[in-house]
Amino acid sequence: KNLAHRFKAVIMAEDIKKAIPEWPYFIVDLMHWDKHTQKEKGKVCLQLAQCYGLLRDYFMGDRLAVTWANEEFREMANMPLDKVTLHEGPTTEFLKSEGIDEVVLLDPWAGEVLSEEDFGVRAFIIGGIVDTGGTKKKTTPKIGEELETAGIKVRRRKIVLRGDIVGVPDRINHILEILLGMMVEGKDMDEAVYDVQ
Ligand code: SAM
Repeated sequence: KNLAHRFKAVIMAEDIKKAIPEWPYFIVDLMHWDKHTQKEKGKVCLQLAQCYGLLRDYFMGDRLAVTWANEEFREMANMPLDKVTLHEGPTTEFLKSEGIDEVVLLDPWAGEVLSEEDFGVRAFIIGGIVDTGGTKKKTTPKIGEELETAGIKVRRRKIVLRGDIVGVPDRINHILEILLGMMVEGKDMDEAVYDVQ
């Protein structure tokens, strides 16, 4: 059943890709890279490889953008770096080079819940953060502040399960999978969250 569902989703993704000439970027922002332990950095890389796999299934591998992609990340990454979009510098620089002035930042600390009305932006940002020790609390809003300082309009949005962020898996690839489930497969938020649990 799962395979059939996935097959249907891929067919839909192909149609949607044809219908929408320009898919948004799904940016994983590595601004907080240096705050991670080596083990956590490995986890960030693993989750990013899974993000690439998800987008490749929808023929959108190149829509995965990784910003602040420094040398250490490139050495540790285990995905085809020539098939994704890499930017060494800040996210703001990347957005400006693409002419993007408004983004959705997926942020568990946001006041507003992500909705269909947010799907028209040209870039979604997920924090490239793994927090095994609870030492990186509230690091996602900092990404938003940095963007706003540079003049980018930031819609901070959270993903919830039955109204609460408790129960929403916070791995980077799971957040992307929930987002794609809603955008590409038309699932409602609760359904999309249940499907990655
Ligand atoms: N410790 C970080 C903090 O307090 O801001 C959270 C990091 S979380 C492991 C990794 C990323 O997943 C976040 O930066 C955010 O983009 C996304 N994320 C996790 N849970 C989310 C939620 N419920 N709603 C929206 N985005 C979420």
